[in-house]
Amino acid sequence: MPTITNHMPTAELQALDAAHHMHPFSTQDGFRKKGARVIRSAEGVWLTDSEGHRILDGMAGLWCVNIGYGRTELADVAARQMRELPYYNTFFQTTHVPAIALSAKLAELAPGDLNHVFFAGSGSEANDTNLRMVRHYWSSLGKPEKSVVISRLNAYHGSTLGGASLGGMIPMHEQGGLPIPDIHHIGQPNWWAEGGDMTPEEFGIARARELEAAIEEIGEDRIAAFIAEPFQGAGGVIIPPDSYWPEIKRILEGRDILLIADEVICGFGRTGNWFGSQTLGIQPDIMTIAKGLSSGYQPIGGSIVSSKVAKVLAEDEFNHGYTYSGHPVAAAVALENLRIMEEERVIDHVRDVAAPYLREKWESLTEHPLVGEAKIVGLMGSIALTPDKASRAAFAAPAGTAGFITRERCFANNLIMRHVYDRMIIAPPLVIRPEEIDILIERAWQSLDESMARLKEEGLL
Ligand code: PMP
Repeated sequence: MPTITNHMPTAELQALDAAHHMHPFSTQDGFRKKGARVIRSAEGVWLTDSEGHRILDGMAGLWCVNIGYGRTELADVAARQMRELPYYNTFFQTTHVPAIALSAKLAELAPGDLNHVFFAGSGSEANDTNLRMVRHYWSSLGKPEKSVVISRLNAYHGSTLGGASLGGMIPMHEQGGLPIPDIHHIGQPNWWAEGGDMTPEEFGIARARELEAAIEEIGEDRIAAFIAEPFQGAGGVIIPPDSYWPEIKRILEGRDILLIADEVICGFGRTGNWFGSQTLGIQPDIMTIAKGLSSGYQPIGGSIVSSKVAKVLAEDEFNHGYTYSGHPVAAAVALENLRIMEEERVIDHVRDVAAPYLREKWESLTEHPLVGEAKIVGLMGSIALTPDKASRAAFAAPAGTAGFITRERCFANNLIMRHVYDRMIIAPPLVIRPEEIDILIERAWQSLDESMARLKEEGLL
């Protein structure tokens, strides 16, 4: 085998990649034909590929590199921690300073009585923890029949058996025999695609009341929890109508049903507060965290658990845990990430500078003939592509064709923007500067123009 280095020609790297590397959420044959773009290094909001192109990362990796690339402080902390204590577990009455310090810090940052942290290696693992935790919680209270978790169609909660079952992605359910039992999905608050003739406000109420209807149908005595992303991310950055969450709150109030807020994307500044729950004024019993917790520099996730739930769980052994729960290097890096976010007032930058600036520019994309609605909260935004704005029409071509073409044009124009069917989405690093937002919008506009031309050429528009 040749020595594989950064200096190898791109085509050779691509061939080896296609031959041996199985990519997540990808058609492997696509790579065999086209080759994957090889990313070599990164700084701030900019990626550099093996051909030397500088690419604006409008997705912060996978919504995770919140403080931007190239923060050597995190590398230094990781190296220091690896020298001192590269690994130890927290299973059998042992602990270590990084896990202690990170859990205490998270208890300080999280709202209300969310004061206890169960660590995992990722968001998916954390949601698996949550599923077992809420069922065990009710069981410990003498109500083992309370095992149903209600979630939403088009939600994303991870790729493990539990995470993908909680999620509401039908193409995921179709592979591997999911969902596992006792997961129930209600509709999502996506007014653009599903609101019909209702106003957004009416639709928000109607969709929230699907929760009430499900509770009545299944029975409160059977339901353990409702899980939701404060703002759906991977489903296409669906910002619910303003009426939605207050109605969900009303429905859950006074009912014996736990609320799990999946903050994997919304947490750590994305929506202009530490957590999306704060932006919405909701108080969950458990929050799922990952991604921005370490800005993606180390794999780490977890569940922040309320004192109410933790107290019950403390009474007997919770037979659950991961080798890397509270991994000292990951925890130390996450702590350093949070220190930087606080000291550099990254969330103030989002709230006061970047988000208002991006909102104005993002919403102006609706002037483009291909763009229907533009939605944004903090630094996560989406646009709906449509052949006809007035009727909110979908394309005649298979769903996702226009989105895929647009994503390809963005890629060619050195902008990372993702598509979810025919919605284009962005979630740039939180440190993005106004002049970089200008470049993002310029490249997006140009890509939309090129995409429109292509759609016309192919008779899709
Ligand atoms: N929950 C949400 C809301 C997510 O967006 C994701 C990842 N996109 C996950 C869970 C799963 O996280 P991970 O990929 O770290 O397992």
